[in-house]
Amino acid sequence: MGEHTEPVKRRLGVMGGTFDPIHHGHLVAASEVASQFHLDEVIFVPTGQPWQKSHKTVSPAEDRYLMTVIATASNPQFSVSRIDIDRGGKTYTIDTLRDLRALHGDADLFFITGADALGQILTWHDAEELVSLAHFIGVTRPGHVLADPGLPDGAVSLVEVPALAISSTDCRARVAQGDPVWYLVPDGVVRYIDKKQLYRDNG
Ligand code: ATP
Ligand code: MG
Repeated sequence: MGEHTEPVKRRLGVMGGTFDPIHHGHLVAASEVASQFHLDEVIFVPTGQPWQKSHKTVSPAEDRYLMTVIATASNPQFSVSRIDIDRGGKTYTIDTLRDLRALHGDADLFFITGADALGQILTWHDAEELVSLAHFIGVTRPGHVLADPGLPDGAVSLVEVPALAISSTDCRARVAQGDPVWYLVPDGVVRYIDKKQLYRDNG
């Protein structure tokens, strides 16, 4: 006889990335979107192992996964999923979202991506299914213009996050040159890069 109440849907952020290595740009973006969109949780999803990413070899999936765990461990709202790593091969966002949808059937999914990556959304041939699976949130990235990707109303939001001109490419280059990455990536990630001697021969 009580009042009929709809169960409150969980709001899950999904932050996909190579995370080679994860850096404070990723973490600030996830934190800011979680706050602005009242997300219950942000799931970081490191990509599966491609053969190559733009002519460069990507670090082993286990290293990228562990750095992502180290970087997010202290935040109770952040978690890490192995779904893309365990599926193997190159990661397609459509597979990530289908799998997460199956695992969290009744949650609202919010796919968080940098403005650079969002710009390619229209070229994804699964665009229609993608926007049916998740709400897309494009975050500003220094050096990238935040253009309206021209998707259906309500499918995409653009969010300005405090600008951090950090990229994984730059972090790898710095390590290769012997320059510090302290404060660009979390302390534990600096230690992990050193322990595993990552990025030393990055050119
Ligand atoms: P790489 O230089 O190797 O391409 P990256 O720094 O772009 O690495 P990715 O793992 O490719 O990192 O990025 C994962 C997601 O995070 C992408 O959607 C990307 O646009 C976004 N992102 C990366 N760096 C930033 C940043 N500084 N601010 C906001 N979003 C970012
Ligand atoms: Mg990138």
